[in-house]
Amino acid sequence: MADVKEQILYLQELGVESFAVDLPEIVESNFKSASSKSEISTQKPERFIPSDLPVISTTEKPKTVNIEASQARRSLLESTKLSRLPSMPKRNASISSFSENQINQSRKIEMPVKPIAEAPSLFGDITQTLPESTETIEEIHADIGNCTRCPLWEGRTKIVHSEGSLNARLIFVGEAPGANEDAEGRPFVGKAGQLLNKIIEGIGMKREDVFIGNVNRCRPPGNRTPTLPEAHTCRPFLWREIAVVRPKVIVVMGNTATQNLLDTKVGITKLRGEFQDYHGVKVMPTFHPAYLLRDPSKKRETWEDMKMVRDFLNQ
Ligand code: URA
Repeated sequence: MADVKEQILYLQELGVESFAVDLPEIVESNFKSASSKSEISTQKPERFIPSDLPVISTTEKPKTVNIEASQARRSLLESTKLSRLPSMPKRNASISSFSENQINQSRKIEMPVKPIAEAPSLFGDITQTLPESTETIEEIHADIGNCTRCPLWEGRTKIVHSEGSLNARLIFVGEAPGANEDAEGRPFVGKAGQLLNKIIEGIGMKREDVFIGNVNRCRPPGNRTPTLPEAHTCRPFLWREIAVVRPKVIVVMGNTATQNLLDTKVGITKLRGEFQDYHGVKVMPTFHPAYLLRDPSKKRETWEDMKMVRDFLNQ
């Protein structure tokens, strides 16, 4: 060390004030060995890190993120901000057809949703209200336009928009148009529709009193169930209509309608018969009329569900 000090003083006398010298880091062990050998090791020393100190890398992102919290935040933002719903500019952006890539992408961000009954709020029963809407149903339909946002457009004859009373206290939601609806451009006009009319009359109302729509507005080929990306592409328009009509009750018929409105993966058999919540609006999941046509024994349960709806509306 004495040698080094001497050399530094000598260099300072020569007017050298800063030293760009690549000095090796001195660690305890090196220092000892250097002093014992009277020379500084030129080997890169190991850093001295106390063994009980956690090593935190500043370049890596934390690996554990609260997926549920971020999912809940995203879902809340998505569903409460009308500005996030599909709009003209988004539609005009080149989404002319849904590539396999886009579909896979949507699948990737599809998060499992907790069953409603297992997701209690920390703050008790906070009832969110529907987002305010300043648009009209006609504006929503104009925004849908000659839609090509998902692949279902390729097989459709007519887009099947929701229809009914804008003052409706009750909205019925189905899955997607069938052959008759696709030909007429109106929801629930086939055999399932005739049964739906009877259900509506069964609770003392008329079809004109209610509002009826579907998660998807184009008929899927062979009446197959819409895929998640297809349903997720179309359902925001239904959300926007619900925000315009502001009903007291929504009846979701079948799995597709139930799961897409309530954002759950829980099936209809578990959820039916109990009011659920959609932004402060009561939701009654029940069987789809097409299913009732295939299995008439399930009509009894549907009737029980509809009586609860009727009684709630008549309170
Ligand atoms: N099934 C549905 O889900 N919707 C219709 O409009 C017709 C049949």
